[in-house]
Amino acid sequence: MIRVPGSDTRGAALIPIPPGPPGPRTERHAPLGWLLIGVPYPHSPMSHYFICPHCGHRSIASERTAGFRRDAKGCEKCGFAYLFELLDDYYPAPNAAFFATDADGKIVDCGKGSFELTGLKTEQVIGRPVNDVLGLRFEDGTDHVGTALEWEVRVKAKPVEVHAEGDLPAKAVADIFPAYDDDEGGLLVVLTPANHR
Ligand SMILES: [Zn+2]
Repeated sequence: MIRVPGSDTRGAALIPIPPGPPGPRTERHAPLGWLLIGVPYPHSPMSHYFICPHCGHRSIASERTAGFRRDAKGCEKCGFAYLFELLDDYYPAPNAAFFATDADGKIVDCGKGSFELTGLKTEQVIGRPVNDVLGLRFEDGTDHVGTALEWEVRVKAKPVEVHAEGDLPAKAVADIFPAYDDDEGGLLVVLTPANHR
């Protein structure tokens, strides 16, 4: 889903993305590949946690089947084309901002809360490196986006300064989730505003 230019930010005017480019979110590639390959589960083997990178809707599936792998598991709430699978449940703050990238760290979607935090919309920044667009400066000096992409590890609760294009700097806390996939990869970047209304 993308926002119609000029529409408000509450999702009143959403239109479906047609199948195919831009980005890796094509019917044949992105969805399944992004989710389901070879992830060890430290908790119950019966529960699989998912989150929508666009609207933040959480869901739990009891099983992963072969058939499931071949079909996109889209968001039942907003209709977004794919979900991120998580190692355990995750509760984003109500004002958290969601950004999804491809395997090169380039933005494929600015989701829930992103406009409120950064003033950016998907159509302005799609296909560009998330680090450039958001101007992320992590407090500890590490490129945590790069780390998550390279090692496919989750990055948890890292304080960061956000210098989004055309916007005032803002402080936030970043959670970064890799897509567990051999081919496509990608990230979900969740920025929770600090000292921000
Ligand atoms: Zn959704």
